[in-house]
Amino acid sequence: MMGAERCGLVAIIGRPNVGKSTLLNHLLGQKISITSRKPQTTRHRILGVSTRDEVQTVYVDTPGLHRVEARAINRVMNRAARAAVRDVDVVLMVVERLQWVEEDEQVLQVLRAAAKPALLIINKIDQIDDKAALLPHIARLKDLYPFVAIVPVSALKGSNLAQLEGEVGGLLPEAPHLFPADQVTDRSERFLVAEIIREKLIRQLGEELPYANAVQIEEFSQQGGIIHISGLIIVEKPGQKAIVIGRGGERLKQVGVEARHDMERLLGSKVMLKLWVKVRSGWADDERALASLGYQDDG
Ligand code: GDP
Ligand code: MG
Repeated sequence: MMGAERCGLVAIIGRPNVGKSTLLNHLLGQKISITSRKPQTTRHRILGVSTRDEVQTVYVDTPGLHRVEARAINRVMNRAARAAVRDVDVVLMVVERLQWVEEDEQVLQVLRAAAKPALLIINKIDQIDDKAALLPHIARLKDLYPFVAIVPVSALKGSNLAQLEGEVGGLLPEAPHLFPADQVTDRSERFLVAEIIREKLIRQLGEELPYANAVQIEEFSQQGGIIHISGLIIVEKPGQKAIVIGRGGERLKQVGVEARHDMERLLGSKVMLKLWVKVRSGWADDERALASLGYQDDG
C-alpha cells in the first residue's frame, strides 16, 4: 500500500563499541543507495540512504559525537556534539545488553539537550543469557527520556531490525525523497571507504591521532571477485607517521584489519586493502610502506 512519501534524517548515537556501525550496515543492507551528495537541508555527511517503498531514511554522521568517541567523554556536552543531533528528525540511541554506564548517561545528555524524538535501541540481545532480566531493565530505562520506543535488537544477527525500521519510518516527516531509490556511485563508495579508514584510525589512536590527517583513496577497482583498494593516510610530520604506523607496523595493520572487515560488509565483496602513510611535505614524501592486507590474511 502506497501512502505519502516520507523522508528524514536519522542520527545513530551511542558510546563506543555498542554496535552503531554494525547496526547501520544492517539497516542499509544490500539494496541501499549510498551517496556523498549533500542535500542542502543539512550540514551532515550522508552515511547511507535506505529507501523502502514510500519511506526514505537518510542516515547521517554525527561528527561531534565521533570526536566524543575519540576524546575524553566528559567533554560530551560540547557544542559540536549538540549541533550534530540538532537538525536531524530522529535519533537512535544505542546501548548494549543490560548495561547502563556513565558514558551512556553522557550520551543521553546530548539527546536531552537536543530534545529529539528518539528510539532507544538495546543491542546485542543475542548476548543476554538471562532474557527475563530484559523487561525490568527496559522498565528502568523508560524513565530516562521520553523514548518513543525501546527496541531490543541484535544488529549482528539481524534480529528485530524490521520492527526497528518500522518504528523509524513512522517517525519520519512527510516529505519528498531526497535521493533516487537506487543510486550507487563509485565516487560515494570511495568516500565511504575513506571514512571507514578514518574511523579506524580514530579508534586506534584516540588522543594521539594527528590532527589534520587525511585519507585519500588512490585505487578502487574490481578484479575478479575482489575489490582492490589503496588508501593513503596523509599526516603532517614524520613523527606522526611513526605514531600511525606503530611499533613494528602493528597499529597500521590493526587499522587495516578492522577497516577491511567493514569494507567487505559495506561492499558485499572480498576486499584487498593496502594502506600507506605519507607525510604531506618534506623529505619523507615518497617513503611508503607497511600494511598490505589481503583477504587471505584472515585469522
Ligand atoms: P560502534 O563502536 O558503536 O560502531 O560498534 P561496532 O559496530 O564497531 O561494534 C563493536 C563490536 O560489537 C564489534 O565487535 C561487533 O561485531 C559487536 N557487535 C555489534 N552488534 C552486535 C550484536 O548484536 N551482537 C553481538 N554479539 N555483537 C555485536
Ligand atoms: Mg563505529
